[in-house]
Amino acid sequence: MNEFLQVIVDFLAVLFGDTPSRPRTPRPLPPALPPAPPPTPQANPEEPQDAGDVKEDDFIVISHEAEPPRVGEGAPEFDENPLPAPEDDPIPPVSPDDRVIIPVPVPPAPEYRARYMWCIDNGHGALTAGKRSPILPDGRQLLEYQFNRDITRRIFAQLDAIGVAYFNVVPETQVGNFLTERVDRANRLSTALPKLFVSIHGNAGPAPTLQDFTDDSVQGVETWYYNGSTKGRKMATIFHRNIIAQTDMNNRHLRSKVTGQFYVLRATRMPAVLTENGFYNNRFDLEQMLTEDFRQRVADAHVAAIMEIEREGL
Ligand SMILES: [Zn+2]
Repeated sequence: MNEFLQVIVDFLAVLFGDTPSRPRTPRPLPPALPPAPPPTPQANPEEPQDAGDVKEDDFIVISHEAEPPRVGEGAPEFDENPLPAPEDDPIPPVSPDDRVIIPVPVPPAPEYRARYMWCIDNGHGALTAGKRSPILPDGRQLLEYQFNRDITRRIFAQLDAIGVAYFNVVPETQVGNFLTERVDRANRLSTALPKLFVSIHGNAGPAPTLQDFTDDSVQGVETWYYNGSTKGRKMATIFHRNIIAQTDMNNRHLRSKVTGQFYVLRATRMPAVLTENGFYNNRFDLEQMLTEDFRQRVADAHVAAIMEIEREGL
């Protein structure tokens, strides 16, 4: 009997253009909204910002830039690459709420075939605590944020002349650590070009107070990358080789922290390096770092590395 009723219901349904007793063909769903970009993790205000904050008992991998890349070296039970391939990340859409970004990227010159968007980070602001050299007897003092910004200013001038695309991540001066924001701006930047991140710093060695120099043996340049990032290490190799060649400073090689990695290397969703261009609390390095000539050579080295990667890729 039930079957008989079902036949009648179906017959009526066919007459009236519907088939209520049979499974409906599912309507195509509207296109899914693009996934929200993963939030940039918040920086802990206490976490190390650069090599000047590294503790003596931190586990650091030091490797020679001439060695072939080794991934995850020294890291116990460490995945080959703990990050999803950052360069494959979809470009996050910009929602109306995201339009608080102040800096605007400089697009490539029309005649220049740009390969990357260079996110150049000056590391600290005028309100960052510490990060300054001892005051010399003649009154001179190096403030790290000024040194870093002088280097980036010289880099930008050259990139403008060549036509390379870049993004001055923090053009404002009156900022403190600003760690989350500087990374978040780079992560959110929407560009058709793959992004690379370069954070430029001066270093500080252990010293009792800001007015004390570190040991004379603590001097030179070092370049940091995210432990486990193959492209980050390759990028660090290129930057470091160029900085050594242009400055002839003491070579402290490539460095990577196994735990507690620097926020700007850990949270940027793109290959990233952090360059440490001399120790401002080493009496010999400081003298160099206060000169126009040294700063220009550091800037030239960064531009040479950028152009090498623009030519050959990572
Ligand atoms: Zn720094």
